[in-house]
Amino acid sequence: MEAVDSRPVTQGDLDWAEASTADAAARMGLRLHTEGLPGALMATLDSQRWCEVGSRCLSCGNCTMVCPTCFCSSVHDESSLSGSTVSRVQRWDSCFSLDHSYIHGGSVRSGTSDRYRQWLTHKLSTWWGQFGESGCVGCGRCISWCPVGIDLVEEANALLGRGARRREAT
Ligand code: SF4
Ligand code: SF4
Repeated sequence: MEAVDSRPVTQGDLDWAEASTADAAARMGLRLHTEGLPGALMATLDSQRWCEVGSRCLSCGNCTMVCPTCFCSSVHDESSLSGSTVSRVQRWDSCFSLDHSYIHGGSVRSGTSDRYRQWLTHKLSTWWGQFGESGCVGCGRCISWCPVGIDLVEEANALLGRGARRREAT
């Protein structure tokens, strides 16, 4: 750190940081209704909306790769060609891959709509039971990087009968 060119922080720096944060918050135009959301989502498991979003989703896994809270991984054993060494390797994985839910005899979540439902309900509902908080920090990366424009906020609001509005005044 001694090699880094630096100076003591000033009140002006602190004011700038605070104003920048407030400015960013004021420009957020997307709103997720979170009141009662975890329980309400679990009542939508048979909704046709899952099929509709599943028909658009490519199961590419982009949303899980960019999400700061996604942590799923898989483990593989790899042997060398000579057969002299074996390595156990952990890799990033995604709940959108068919193999991720493979249990003897097949994948539990065989359809894209099943996998999208798993992802969204984990983020916004079952994460609460697992960790006591939401699995979504509201960064919007999954929306920015979805190649077909699927929007987690739009889907959640639509599932809860709050309209499929992409943007809503806060
Ligand atoms: S908006 Fe939520 S679900 Fe999407 S990438 Fe950010 S934390 Fe993950
Ligand atoms: S990024 Fe979009 S298309 Fe890809 S898996 Fe996620 S929701 Fe589906």
